[in-house]
Amino acid sequence: PLFSSLPLSEPIMRAIQELGYQHPTPIQAQAIPQIISGHDVLGVAQTGTGKTASFTLPMLEKLSGSRARARMPRSLILEPTRELALQVADNFKLYGKYLRLSHALLIGGESMAEQREVLNRGVDVLIATPGRLLDLFARGGLLMTQTSLFVIDEADRMLDMGFIPDIEKIVTLLPAHRQTLFFSATMAPEIRRLADAFLRNPVEITV
Ligand code: AMP
Repeated sequence: PLFSSLPLSEPIMRAIQELGYQHPTPIQAQAIPQIISGHDVLGVAQTGTGKTASFTLPMLEKLSGSRARARMPRSLILEPTRELALQVADNFKLYGKYLRLSHALLIGGESMAEQREVLNRGVDVLIATPGRLLDLFARGGLLMTQTSLFVIDEADRMLDMGFIPDIEKIVTLLPAHRQTLFFSATMAPEIRRLADAFLRNPVEITV
């Protein structure tokens, strides 16, 4: 398939072209149209499959097509480690180069005061690790009532690292009416149970 067969608008296509991407990977070809049309997605894919672009590209597309009145976070991406969160933020910046969307990177080992300042200015997307997101929430000033696109990345690592209770807490802070995307490299029974708890009628994509 070609990127031009996917429902992505010109500013995103231009960024992709400049990066030299020619064809969407299998997870991208399958997930991008489903996410744009509003479905929950359960993606079974490892790192290296182009998984990050499979959720960041449609997220950018959806955000660019709708203007928020006040700048409230409209999307949340949860990552198990700061390194992964940094990588996702780098990708987000590259793919969103021609869009005017902002993000906050909420990870440990960085200044909480600075992160709160970024949040106070207003952002479209949160890219976070669970612990730091909850710490910031507890200090006030972080509202996720408009955060209707939620990505849980690397769910199996989240489980290994003991983050499931944090994620369960975070879910209660998001609107009930939301779109959820859940990615895991493996689909053990415990992961399957989590997916059942977090997703509504998901399209399942295994690559
Ligand atoms: P990921 O699986 O998200 O960690 O992506 C693995 C690498 O593949 C990253 O360095 C991406 O920049 C690159 N990549 C993602 N999608 C494509 C694509 N369609 N064509 C070429 N490279 C890609």
